[in-house]
Amino acid sequence: MLIVFIGPPGAGKGTASRKLLDYLQIPHLSTGELLRAAKQSSPLGRLAAQYMDRGQLVPDPIVLSMVGEELDKPAFSRGCMFDGFPRTIQQAKSLDDSLRQRGTPLSIVIELKADEAELITRMLRRAATEKRVDDTPETIGRRMEVYHRQTSPLLDYYRKQGLLVSVDAMGSPDDVFELIRAAVDKKKVTVESAAG
Ligand code: ADP
Repeated sequence: MLIVFIGPPGAGKGTASRKLLDYLQIPHLSTGELLRAAKQSSPLGRLAAQYMDRGQLVPDPIVLSMVGEELDKPAFSRGCMFDGFPRTIQQAKSLDDSLRQRGTPLSIVIELKADEAELITRMLRRAATEKRVDDTPETIGRRMEVYHRQTSPLLDYYRKQGLLVSVDAMGSPDDVFELIRAAVDKKKVTVESAAG
């Protein structure tokens, strides 16, 4: 199965996909984590960091080449959960093209819907423990704005393909996980019966 998570910063994409990983046993591909890991280790990573630290999106070509490299790894042959990717229409189109070539279309796109004011509180709380450089009040505001402008158009893009399921992300991590699991189970039945 190939699953995409979309939601504003702080909506819990990482938490939800890690919980689903235990359930589905397919790997998790977080572009945010990949980019944070590359920050110190490669010139491209250092370039990407300049965008991340300001709360802006890293340019599509950098992200796309990173994701392409990951998807070629054997671990991803049975599917994966994309967390924080795609984030622009160009990324979504490029993902569609590469999945078409591989003959493995997306199964479901899960939108985590959340109240923005509450998310900002959550992120500031996270900032105190995780010390992410992009969790300052100013950068959080910019990431929200970037989400609305560049990423939320993807919701329509996937709705038109019949792939979008929206889930209320304001409950506890367990509640949110149950909603996601139900949506995924329903989709699995459809995917399996279509495959015969
Ligand atoms: P959040 O969803 O809380 O913003 P992420 O870890 O997904 O956290 O992303 C952190 C930062 O990494 C983003 O603000 C952006 O700079 C960069 N980033 C992550 N994924 C992408 C992507 N698909 N395209 C461009 N930039 C990305």
